[in-house]
Amino acid sequence: MLEMQHSPCRFEIPQSEFTEVRMRNIKIGVLALQGAFIEHEHMLTDLGAVCTEIRQPSDLTGLDGIVLPGGESTVQGQLLHKSGLFTPLRKLISDGLPTLGTCAGLILMAQEISNPVADRTIQEKAAPTAHLGTLPVTVRRNAYGRQLSSFVTEQPIAGIGNHPMIFIRAPYIERTDVNVEILAKVDGNIVAVKYKNQIGLSFHPELSENSNIHEWFLSQCEK
Ligand code: GLN
Repeated sequence: MLEMQHSPCRFEIPQSEFTEVRMRNIKIGVLALQGAFIEHEHMLTDLGAVCTEIRQPSDLTGLDGIVLPGGESTVQGQLLHKSGLFTPLRKLISDGLPTLGTCAGLILMAQEISNPVADRTIQEKAAPTAHLGTLPVTVRRNAYGRQLSSFVTEQPIAGIGNHPMIFIRAPYIERTDVNVEILAKVDGNIVAVKYKNQIGLSFHPELSENSNIHEWFLSQCEK
């Protein structure tokens, strides 16, 4: 486990946006092609939301929000194409449906992936990660190294307060467009952002005991 330094955040989210929310009947689609989707479902269900697993385009109807879970972004990107989900999912997010992307989910949302070609696997060189490109940021995949890359820390998130952050072969964000709000940094690197309807996190809140981020996300879905 690494000890990370406290990094101040530049933006504040008003507390009123995520306190006193009523989450009954909010329907969240959790992308369930691969990765840690069950953990998101448990957390959201405990908060009173209704979850549906997204595996095919017909699963995208009637949603109030979308979760893109962690896992392996290269695999998820390929499966998005195979399943026919890529284009309709990208349209829903671009059109403003609240979306929470964690780790591989953040990579899928990113407009640009910065990893040098030398860092890519043979498969990735042949078929670069297919990503939705809805979030105007540049991410670096496996930014903490491929092997000794998992760690836990607790850091402040703007508007939410201190939050446990579990990083597993995580990306971080190297560049953001001016309209992207930076919500948290760890060791000087950006690990949480918000852009319009999209929240992107490098870490896994669904693997911690703290559901404040999911609660805040659900409050966005309720509007
Ligand atoms: N390293 C993975 C990727 O590039 C992300 C890992 C995760 O989601 N925990 O897709």
